[in-house]
Amino acid sequence: MKSYDVAIIGSGPGGYVAAIRCAQLGMKTAIIEKYSTLGGTCLNVGCIPSKALLSSSHHYEEATKHFEDHGIEIPGDIKVNLEKMIGRKQAVVDQTTGGIDFLMKKNNIDVFEGLGSFIDATHIKIEGKDAQEIEAKKVIIATGSKPSNLPFISLDKERIITSTEALKLKEVPKHLIIIGGGVIGLELGQVYRRLGAEVTVIEYMDRIIPTMDAGLSKELNKVFKKAKCKMMLSHKVQSVERKGDEVVVKAENKKGEVVEFKGDYCLVSVGRKPYTEGLNLEAAGVKMNDRGQVEVNEHLQTSTSNIYAIGDVIKGAMLAHKAEEEGTFVAETIAGQKPHIDYNLIPGVVYTWPEVAAVGKTEEELKADNVAYKVGQFPFRALGRARASGDIEGFVKILADKTTDEVLGVHMIGARCADLIAEAVVSMEYRASAEDISRMSHAHPTFAEAVKEAALAATDNRALHV
Ligand code: FAD
Ligand code: NAD
Repeated sequence: MKSYDVAIIGSGPGGYVAAIRCAQLGMKTAIIEKYSTLGGTCLNVGCIPSKALLSSSHHYEEATKHFEDHGIEIPGDIKVNLEKMIGRKQAVVDQTTGGIDFLMKKNNIDVFEGLGSFIDATHIKIEGKDAQEIEAKKVIIATGSKPSNLPFISLDKERIITSTEALKLKEVPKHLIIIGGGVIGLELGQVYRRLGAEVTVIEYMDRIIPTMDAGLSKELNKVFKKAKCKMMLSHKVQSVERKGDEVVVKAENKKGEVVEFKGDYCLVSVGRKPYTEGLNLEAAGVKMNDRGQVEVNEHLQTSTSNIYAIGDVIKGAMLAHKAEEEGTFVAETIAGQKPHIDYNLIPGVVYTWPEVAAVGKTEEELKADNVAYKVGQFPFRALGRARASGDIEGFVKILADKTTDEVLGVHMIGARCADLIAEAVVSMEYRASAEDISRMSHAHPTFAEAVKEAALAATDNRALHV
């Protein structure tokens, strides 16, 4: 029987990063993955393929709607070849997952393909291609998550689908009905809207992306409405039925009326749930909480002391970079170091266009905590760089402590915000004040100048360009 210092179950961004860090720290490391490709949800059916389709559909939209503004004329029709677009997406995925194979080899990590389950706290059975039993002093559970569903919906994965199927459709839907105005619904909704589908978003709450700052929800809702998406807020879905090639969705509005929607595809994107099926956690004494997550303490240690858990399978934001930080954290903890994660500083990004990004506290959270704060906001339309490229929608909003001026939250919507948010994370990591940011030189002309201007506005309302 092969014996390891650490065995990791699941090869998503949590698992594979944990494996690399364990190997870097001198541990003999194994990783077990039930699928034939490494990288988990993120690389195979999540972050990477969705961003590939967002990029392709963005190019199409630019070519059909905006090239002309720039004086670029394309003779004849511009057409979408969906098969090719999906093929390119798959090539990007294959290249990226292949990169993880390389990293495992480079770091001398043993990869086992098969379903991992606990025999006891230090022994794992692998069923599948590399079937065998292995022994490990420490185990890291990194089994991720799966799409959630509503109890009354039967997902046929053809017309009533999850994100996994939405990433490989064979045709552009005529009318895509999306249940859930969260990250997945909006990112994939925008992809298919750009490609020509009619899109209806049905959201239970009174705003889309409801966990983000309300200002961002409002601005992004405007963008979707401008693109002629139907945004049905405060609608509670009651039933979803397939009738041949048609899908009929019924939802109750605030007035208690039942509204019917007819489309040819329905994407169910109402969140994801932790995945622990087949792990046989009981055999290792690992406890779960009432939300179906593996229960962990502040060291990300489970109820069995040599077993840790990270990523989507435990509490917290279901984000790839959160899983990665936890992978590093556990590897270093096992090595006897004292790592730290500041969960308040894990940024959240929605990769629509304009992009939406945030870190720290929202206005709603600061109000609930009775924190006195001030707001500095700056619109992209006042930036030279934004006008030069034609990306004038959105703003940067900085929330700072009213007394100390410390930055407490940064919320932005606009071009390249997914990258701009890094400046906010760095600033908050070093506990910068709004004035600190406002006194740093930002290259001109850049989108980043909106961050400086918002900081100036927060300092004492002295933005320069509005
Ligand atoms: P996962 O990536 O889910 O990996 C878990 C792995 O464990 C899987 O490969 C699974 O097969 C394997 N596994 C499970 N059980 C076993 C077992 N018993 N034996 C062996 N192997 C097992 N996050 C972002 O930060 N940015 C984004 O842009 C983004 N976009 C997304 C888009 C979509 C459409 C989706 C669905 C998700 C997106 N996410 C994004 C979320 C992100 O994918 C997850 O937060 C991230 O993948 C979680 O990583 P993880 O390592 O915890 O688990
Ligand atoms: P989500 O939690 O972002 O959004 C789900 C939405 O569905 C919410 O707005 C919720 O109010 C709504 N909803 C729930 N029940 C409903 C009902 N019965 N009727 C109508 N609406 C309902 O979940 P998601 O979009 O499915 O994404 C799952 C996870 O994947 C998220 O946690 C997210 O962090 C992650 N993800 C991240 C990214 C990114 O970082 N860019 C992209 C995609 C997915």
